[in-house]
Amino acid sequence: MKIIMLGAPGAGKGTQAKMIAEKYGVPHISTGDIFRANIKNGTELGMEAKKYMDQGLLVPDELTVKILLDRVANEDCKNGYVLDGFPRTIPQAEVLDKALTELGDKIDYAIDVDVPDENIVKRMGGRRACLSCGATYHIEHVPPKSEGICDKCGQELVLRDDDKPETVKNRLNVYHEQTQPLIEFYTKKGVLKAVDGTVDMKDVFAAIVEILG
Ligand code: ADP
Ligand code: ADP
Ligand code: ZN
Repeated sequence: MKIIMLGAPGAGKGTQAKMIAEKYGVPHISTGDIFRANIKNGTELGMEAKKYMDQGLLVPDELTVKILLDRVANEDCKNGYVLDGFPRTIPQAEVLDKALTELGDKIDYAIDVDVPDENIVKRMGGRRACLSCGATYHIEHVPPKSEGICDKCGQELVLRDDDKPETVKNRLNVYHEQTQPLIEFYTKKGVLKAVDGTVDMKDVFAAIVEILG
């Protein structure tokens, strides 16, 4: 089962992708997590990506596509995966489509987690992230057991630099310009499914399970 999560920054793609990965036994692949891990480890890729991420801009397609294609070529992806944050542009979607077609394969579902911009800005200010293990919390909706500390690995939680309100506005503009056209792209392919992302995360997940079966 090959699934793509679509939706604005902060719509809940990562939250849902992790639940899908667990229930259906496929890896959760987040290009944002891969970039953040590289930044944390000070790799060349990380330094390059950071220049764009800090401004709320997309990392260039050439760089992003290479990382993603390498990742999905791994053995653990042979029964499928859930992509969170990729593709984010039409050229990225076309490269993925071409790579899959060459293997006689395709995306089964593109799930659009729909949340209006007003809700997003509020949500992002409350998001806290663990840069060690990729876990995500929310100060109101998903608080960690002990304030500021990751339940899973005990590391300190942070407000991501790019979750500050000024940058969130840029990211929303970038989303509308460059990523939203993917909704039409996957609608045309007949795999788009939309869910209401404003409800409780358990209810969002129930709607997704209804679709995936
Ligand atoms: P994305 O991967 O789309 O950027 P996340 O899954 O990281 O989004 O979610 C963004 C923030 O909103 C996180 O702090 C998360 O805990 C919280 N969140 C996710 N889903 C919901 C929901 N249905 N209701 C309220 N808050 C949510
Ligand atoms: P969110 O879902 O909350 O927007 P992500 O962790 O998915 O956050 O992405 C964080 C940042 O990483 C993006 O704003 C962008 O700069 C970069 N990024 C992640 N995935 C991609 C991608 N597919 N193409 C280009 N840039 C990306
Ligand atoms: Zn952690």
